[in-house]
Amino acid sequence: MPVVKNIISTKQRIGRFITGSPEMIRRTEEIYRAVLGFYLDVIHDNLDKLPGWDRNSGTRALERLTVRTEPRMNRKTGKPFGGNPNPPYPIDAVWPKFPAYLRRVIIAKAIGMAKSWHSNYQRWLRKKERIQNRNESRVAEGKKPIPFDEHPPKYPAAGNVGITFYKGDFKNLSLKANTIQLKVWDGSDWRFITVEVEPTRHSRKLHLDDSWEMTVPTVYEREGIFHLVTAFEKKSNVMKFTDYYRSKRPKVLAVDLNLGRKNRAVCALVGKDGTVHKVRHIGLTACNTTDVHHLLGLIARNVSGLGIVPKGHRPCKKLWRKVHAANDNYAHHVSKRLVDLAMEWDARVIVFENLKHFRPDRNKHGSARMRQRIGYWLHRRVMKYTTYKAKARGILVALISPKDTSARCSLCGSLETSRAGNILACRNCGTVHNSHVNAAINIGMAWFIREEKRLQQKSA
Ligand SMILES: [Zn+2]
Repeated sequence: MPVVKNIISTKQRIGRFITGSPEMIRRTEEIYRAVLGFYLDVIHDNLDKLPGWDRNSGTRALERLTVRTEPRMNRKTGKPFGGNPNPPYPIDAVWPKFPAYLRRVIIAKAIGMAKSWHSNYQRWLRKKERIQNRNESRVAEGKKPIPFDEHPPKYPAAGNVGITFYKGDFKNLSLKANTIQLKVWDGSDWRFITVEVEPTRHSRKLHLDDSWEMTVPTVYEREGIFHLVTAFEKKSNVMKFTDYYRSKRPKVLAVDLNLGRKNRAVCALVGKDGTVHKVRHIGLTACNTTDVHHLLGLIARNVSGLGIVPKGHRPCKKLWRKVHAANDNYAHHVSKRLVDLAMEWDARVIVFENLKHFRPDRNKHGSARMRQRIGYWLHRRVMKYTTYKAKARGILVALISPKDTSARCSLCGSLETSRAGNILACRNCGTVHNSHVNAAINIGMAWFIREEKRLQQKSA
């Protein structure tokens, strides 16, 4: 069976400060945003046509709506023909002689922004309808309706958009040089200027090898300072879930993440028939977790002395920042080890439990609640970092429902189990499991069960 390849691109961004010529860049940014806003408005007036547009047809349609071109003369009859003398939204009434290449760049950007909003909006509509339908049947059964208070996605605005410089608008982009030439508006004309750039602390740390391809730069403004952000792209072949499931001997790396007081991840390499090939406990001693707990203790002590904290006031900002930096570093460390292990074991899918609907326990207060919130935050961070690190190496990350993963016996599937600490005893088949290993195996099996269901639905 041929395997369909799925090209996935991973991005890394390198930001540098722009230290010279901010006035011209600011002026260019103003015009860029104004024209982008103009086109977003035109698209908004013609929303019914948006779904049928791609980048090319959309550009043609929008130029027809905004760009004035004089008709030509028929030499034989002397009558004018063609042209677009009266567009409904003439751009030259607002910006005479706006360069055509930049207009096309901005139109493409506006279409991209509007399209992305449109698909989010459609998703929101479908969700609303789904919940309304479910509520109708719930009310009929005498149950309370589920409230739907999600706001619809907002139509995009040009307010905070960075200027993307496409081919022809920039010259001599290199990470080694400390200058770049950008085409900007000098007040009366478009011309190239040389801009000085300076690496940031973060950009100095990143090392990208030759497998990363440099793409176009974007200029962003943050708190009055301009940053030149260069994106790097790496394309890798990743199989689709269904193709991997149907391949010869699929194996997944299932992860049971325990990020609490004792941080550890239990990994199991699970095969399609439920065979557990390997198990590994990753103790995370390399990161100083006690440090975080020490910091949390300091915060708790400080906050308890404050009495009632006024709304909007966040105490211990510096300490919190330290906690987050330590946790972030930690998430990078864990995710790297997980991806390395998947490579070592030749598993093309890493499976986690999805914690999306998790809410902190309302009965917990003080430091216990704080730990729980941080554990949750850390968990999401680890999944996020693992996803992008795995992608770059051709591995996919799957999330499965956490239902019964820690209560079910992975050997016989019974839910008649009792747990004490790290031990899970099955009353049905009599097996005594390590509860974390058992959970990891269930997580891996859940992925195979889900893919099997999907396959059957497809063929049905
Ligand atoms: Zn059992």
